Amino acid sequence: MSEKWQWLRHGLHTLVELFFPKKCVSCNRRLVNEDHVCTHCMLQLPRTFFHLNPENQLVQRFWSESNMEQATGYFYYSKEAPFRYILYELKYYGNQSLAHYMGTCIVSHIGKEHAFWKGIDCIVPIPLSKERLKKRGYNQCEAIAQGISQESGIPMNTNILLRVVDNPTQTRLKKLARWENSKDIFMANPTYDFQGKHLLLLDDVVTTGSTLISCIRAIHRKYPNCHISVMALSVVPQL
Ligand SMILES: [Zn+2]
Repeated sequence: MSEKWQWLRHGLHTLVELFFPKKCVSCNRRLVNEDHVCTHCMLQLPRTFFHLNPENQLVQRFWSESNMEQATGYFYYSKEAPFRYILYELKYYGNQSLAHYMGTCIVSHIGKEHAFWKGIDCIVPIPLSKERLKKRGYNQCEAIAQGISQESGIPMNTNILLRVVDNPTQTRLKKLARWENSKDIFMANPTYDFQGKHLLLLDDVVTTGSTLISCIRAIHRKYPNCHISVMALSVVPQL
């Protein structure tokens, strides 16, 4: 690109910034050389540090499952805290770029060389129902997983886990939370062979963990020797 075009591009960028300044998705402050979330909010983010505790409260939600390796989440979810807007942006405003960015933040936070990543063969985002995918325009778990994959170098695979029930009603989801009928929602793709592999399941927000348990059980039904770890962007603290 010639110097003239570079100056023109820089000028246009400055004008756009002047009239449409980027704001922090959490506190709405104007961003200065920051991406999506301001430095102040990033410092205030209530990180779980679960990766430093192999018996953390998230992994305890999956102790009933065999071949479960480890589990971590980036930050605690709270309905009252401004950080909830990060998740609202992903779920309701289609902010794919933010989802990808948060994925890269998880890797930076844990550290690329941390033992958590050792032995993981691929990252598997939780699939969305077709209806939600159509409504939202993208799968936020997949976008977060892309960010993690880019930073960690671990490949992402969206074909291992399939959603076989497209449109569970709210009532049905409540039933799921009570651990009922969960085996029918997901299935492992029969055309793959992941025996003995180590998969990292990626979810955006974990509450009871019932959705993830449905996934873990679906994978273990097909690949009993498959090792599974869990990662979440946000975790609802257990009371
Ligand atoms: Zn902020």
